[in-house]
Amino acid sequence: EAKTAGRNDVRFFDPAMQMLIESRAKIEAELREDIAQKNFQLHYQAQVDHEGRLVGAEALVRWPRPVAKPPSPGEFIPIAESSGLIVALGNGVLETACVQLAEWARDPALANLTVAVNVSGVQLHQPTFVDRVKSIVEQTGADPRRLKLEVTESFEIAKIDEVIAKMTALRDIGIRFSLDDFGTGYSSLSYLKRLPLDQLKIDQSFVRDITTDPNDAAIAETIIALGEILGLSVIAEGVETEEQRAFLAARGCRVYQGYLFARPMSSKQFVQFAKLFARPGVPPEGLDLQAH
Ligand code: C2E
Ligand code: MG
Ligand code: MG
Ligand code: MG
Repeated sequence: EAKTAGRNDVRFFDPAMQMLIESRAKIEAELREDIAQKNFQLHYQAQVDHEGRLVGAEALVRWPRPVAKPPSPGEFIPIAESSGLIVALGNGVLETACVQLAEWARDPALANLTVAVNVSGVQLHQPTFVDRVKSIVEQTGADPRRLKLEVTESFEIAKIDEVIAKMTALRDIGIRFSLDDFGTGYSSLSYLKRLPLDQLKIDQSFVRDITTDPNDAAIAETIIALGEILGLSVIAEGVETEEQRAFLAARGCRVYQGYLFARPMSSKQFVQFAKLFARPGVPPEGLDLQAH
């Protein structure tokens, strides 16, 4: 059958592969449409320090679809990256997060929070990246000192000088940088020293079994020590239990993010959560603020 198919009618013998490619193409088409329609939402997940203070939130994109199980960012972000759609999507995410930041600045319970936004390597490599971020910050009136960009080790190492220059330009206006999923990429200590970072983020894959797996514990301890040596703050993601939090705290990790504190939630829910959290002596667990 493949032989008789026309030149532009590529067919695959493996039906599973065929289906995968079809659904990828479908997701890409739907992504394109929904980016144009601005049909994306941001959820916010709390970041809490060692004294139990809410210090910030990570913005996480959500794609509401009229289906039982909408695709997760883990599923559609790679498609957005390989198709280039991540640039438009990422700009939309940054703009929404900056609008939110400017709005929260007017509320005493939220004014001191930072908002962390994930930035793909594909975005970072755009020649217009720095200008784009600056213009979004200016247009929304967001305080750049409250904005943090989470980058991963996925950028092209050959372009490291260019990446450093871009990060430095944004840091000059007060924007901070966190190295996300740290330890899962091709970390090299020599470039780690050169990147203008403010924070290392311990990947949740090391946190999950931190209290039982000596290797994970050693890796987390090493990242915390590295942060200390390089003068970077360290945040742990995927903290789900008090045992994990205590283990990290005992080793000098001072900021945590995970289901132990809160799940990612809508901005409306997050505002309620932050107000409750700000009241001394009131544990926020009481409210049903767990997002879906
Ligand atoms: P990430 O940046 O490492 O974000 C953390 C992920 O861990 C989020 O998944 C979050 O919901 C989840 N998480 C948080 N706390 C816990 C916990 O205690 N336990 C467990 N098991 N998971 C926890 P999410 O929202 O599905 O996002 C997945 C990834 O998609 C993100 O990983 C990030 O790499 C990417 N992503 C999300 N939003 C954006 C975005 O706006 N732009 C870009 N470029 N990537 C994004
Ligand atoms: Mg992140
Ligand atoms: Mg992460
Ligand atoms: Mg992660």
